[in-house]
Amino acid sequence: MEDQKTVLSCIQPTGDVHIGNYFGAIRNWVDLQDKYKCFYGVVDYHAMTMPYDPKKLKENTWNLIINLMAMGVKTENLFIQSMIPEHAELSWIFNCFCGYGRLSQMTQFKDKSKDSSEKADGFISAGLFDYPVLQAADILIYKADFVPVGKDQEQHLELSRSIAQRFNLQMKKEYFVMPETLHTKTAKVMSTADPTRKMSKSAGEKHYISMFSDPSRILKQIKSAVTDTGDSDGSTMSAGVENLFSILAACGAMDQHKTLMDQFEAGSLKYAELKGETGDALVKLLAPIQAKRAELLTNKKEVKSQIKYSSSVIRKRAQETLKEVKDIAGLSNVKF
Ligand code: ADP
Repeated sequence: MEDQKTVLSCIQPTGDVHIGNYFGAIRNWVDLQDKYKCFYGVVDYHAMTMPYDPKKLKENTWNLIINLMAMGVKTENLFIQSMIPEHAELSWIFNCFCGYGRLSQMTQFKDKSKDSSEKADGFISAGLFDYPVLQAADILIYKADFVPVGKDQEQHLELSRSIAQRFNLQMKKEYFVMPETLHTKTAKVMSTADPTRKMSKSAGEKHYISMFSDPSRILKQIKSAVTDTGDSDGSTMSAGVENLFSILAACGAMDQHKTLMDQFEAGSLKYAELKGETGDALVKLLAPIQAKRAELLTNKKEVKSQIKYSSSVIRKRAQETLKEVKDIAGLSNVKF
């Protein structure tokens, strides 16, 4: 276990989980567990950067924990960020090793602050500006070797590396090892209601298929998927049809995929059939995950105590790093 490489990945508790999250991220988390020592965080501190409802935050945090467990994330790899306050302390230290100018260049801040400033009171929190530094703390506190990130987060990982470099340089000690991007092949799922845009919660209910919807709703959503987006003359594949094929493949229904693809190439594909096979494959794939979630929901108390325990074990690792960092940085380490 000692020489096993470490992977860190986090997810914000922002409500429902959709099949895009599963095929694009969480299923990969599950697979990585066999090969690496994994730390998976439900990052509730990060969910405070925009105005939010505290009751909902707590509810979303525990719901996400249950959903992740149902999808196959091992309990011992899971933690809730606010149960490990060392993340926030390291983040302060890192603030002092992060250039203001560099932070101002983060495109996600530019995008999100633009969204906020267009809302009623135009409030933009300092947390929204600073959260990439907290991300650096999330990663470096576990000395993660690898971080599986999408393109949109690559800039933040670069920032983590630059904070680590500056810390090492200024403290004249090669303490932090640079975390690397872990590139894995994951599917990008498009909205079935508008296959030109990514499946996403923020686009509204019709734009995502929840992992935990009734099978009847899932079948209905697939059945009403847009197939003709006006971007195809029949010989090339439209974005909607391509999306259905990619969901079918992500479900592992490769025989059906091949048969239907042959039909497409022969010009005889019936969209109703593609939708039928895709809906069935999805419902079949989700059935055991949904059953597991139902089981976990009947035992919330046990789930809570398991997560408190796993967070306390993971916290020890965070505490070790923070102690070393404080020693190096000339701060006082006292055990009261
Ligand atoms: P949302 O856009 O629904 O709010 P998040 O931004 O919270 O989703 O994303 C959580 C994780 O799921 C990220 O790793 C992200 O890359 C992945 N993800 C989100 N939407 C998709 C999608 N449509 N296809 C593939 N992966 C996705």
